[in-house]
Amino acid sequence: MKLYVHIPFCHSKCAYCDFYSTPRKDWMEAYVDALAGEWEQRRKGLKEPIDTLYLGGGSPSSLPTGLLKRIIETLTSDNSSINTYTNNPPHLREATIEANPEDVTKEWVDFIVNETPFRRVSMGIQSFSDEELALIGRRHSAQKAIEAIGRLREGGIGNISCDLIYGLPGQSLESWKKSLDTLIAVRPEHISAYLLSYEPGTRLSVMLEKGKIHETDEAIIDDMYAFLCETTRKAGYIHYEISNFALPGREAIHNSSYWDGSPYIGLGPGAHSCDGVSRSFNPSSLKNYIACKGKDFGIIDEENELNRYNDMLITRLRTLRGLRPSSVKQEFGGEIYESFVNEASALEKKGLLKLSPEGAYIIPEKMWLTSNSILLELIKI
Ligand code: SF4
Repeated sequence: MKLYVHIPFCHSKCAYCDFYSTPRKDWMEAYVDALAGEWEQRRKGLKEPIDTLYLGGGSPSSLPTGLLKRIIETLTSDNSSINTYTNNPPHLREATIEANPEDVTKEWVDFIVNETPFRRVSMGIQSFSDEELALIGRRHSAQKAIEAIGRLREGGIGNISCDLIYGLPGQSLESWKKSLDTLIAVRPEHISAYLLSYEPGTRLSVMLEKGKIHETDEAIIDDMYAFLCETTRKAGYIHYEISNFALPGREAIHNSSYWDGSPYIGLGPGAHSCDGVSRSFNPSSLKNYIACKGKDFGIIDEENELNRYNDMLITRLRTLRGLRPSSVKQEFGGEIYESFVNEASALEKKGLLKLSPEGAYIIPEKMWLTSNSILLELIKI
């Protein structure tokens, strides 16, 4: 079972971000209390031990280390559900914490290495251009990001993942190439590279509506994506999901569960859960979460068979592993299976899907960027 914990605090809001977070530091303590309440209730239903832990957000690195320690103690207090602490925990295959470069001090890294189980750090760098970083409201500079990676390495973190964004307003192909080359030169084990999307309500989409910034040309985006695929491949990274690249054996175990249908539990306001069949979510309200002390907070997402089939298409076809017809048959059988096989085979004839050596349908890498149009041909309404 995978465990995700949403830490809903950030120092400030980045211009492109629509993740649930607040700068209310005065609520941090009450949040940690409520998290303990939610975990106490939800761990009772666990049928298997936690094998991956992911602290995301928000900004987990914005929490004082004392509170971070309390969270770890809470999660590890019941040895039957998550048996871990520092070295070689028996069940935990991966423990990741997200961090912002400006929070990665030597003291923070020492704390993570010596007092928590996290051995994988995922860092939001986004760009190595100071102008681009300022435009999207990030608090670090390119130099600070490089220094943070160095500190993680010196402190003994052997598994680093870094995020970049392409298609930023005003970003040229040259600038994107420079950011990617700079990142690859420091050789993180894992890279997540996202195409910027203008989410409603974000500062960036308001700036776009007011004509203060402009969307990047599609032709430039295509070139950026082609450069991304080629450069990472030449550097030895495997492009295993639309936006994710890993050195061999360093694919994100926790995140892969979102794409392969494995069950996961999400704690904290705004977190989602899936027991393998049905999904649920915690509403994005820290105030309410604290008020009910994290108990009875989740809402079941009522899904019918077609919703579940669409979820399967959208998640599996994002990946290099793809979707095997046998998985559709096993999960849904009958009409849905027949229709998948017919439609997928028609798309294969058009070159929009291909069969992997393992017999799974996959979207060819060069079409991942525009995969939505292919998915629309398969999705059932
Ligand atoms: S630090 Fe991350 S979660 Fe927080 S506002 Fe920026 S992008 Fe969003």
